[in-house]
Amino acid sequence: MQPLQIQLALPAWVTDVADFGRLYRTDEERVGLAIALSRENVARGDGGPFGAAVFDQEGRLVAAGVNRVVPQSCSVAHAEMMAYMSAQQRLGTFRLNEAGGRYTLATSAQPCCQCYGATVWAGVDELLIGARASDVEELTDFDEGPLPVDWIGELERRGIAVRYDILREEARAVLADYGANGPNY
Ligand SMILES: [Zn+2]
Repeated sequence: MQPLQIQLALPAWVTDVADFGRLYRTDEERVGLAIALSRENVARGDGGPFGAAVFDQEGRLVAAGVNRVVPQSCSVAHAEMMAYMSAQQRLGTFRLNEAGGRYTLATSAQPCCQCYGATVWAGVDELLIGARASDVEELTDFDEGPLPVDWIGELERRGIAVRYDILREEARAVLADYGANGPNY
């Protein structure tokens, strides 16, 4: 029978790596958390080598996410999607900045075509990126899918500022480790 409720879960350790009691003020601190989540996800065998987190304008962590595609049998359970969905549940809104305030998504690697699309409607004002899509495809077997040629411009025209190559080498190291050793889940 078709399930009438769809459930996705993050590993319990996520709230140990992600510190909800501090402020993440800089781009490097925010992407650094996303990379730490990606690294831990691989080390624990809980999903693919990707992490992401949503912050408010003060740098408070709203929600963190990691890739859960294989454990959850769910193709949409990318780190960015998990972070968006968890943040939207927490704030009780489908568009994070609907009631005001500015929100940021930090991700360990450039969003794929799915997460790019989700970013258009999630209600964030900033997108911070570690590794490039070309890094993901160079170092792993993942297909990041097609994006608009001017993908940054399309976001900026919708009020979403994009900054990339933040801690890129650190992000690449997690992808390289995963690519060399393969999945362990
Ligand atoms: Zn994605």
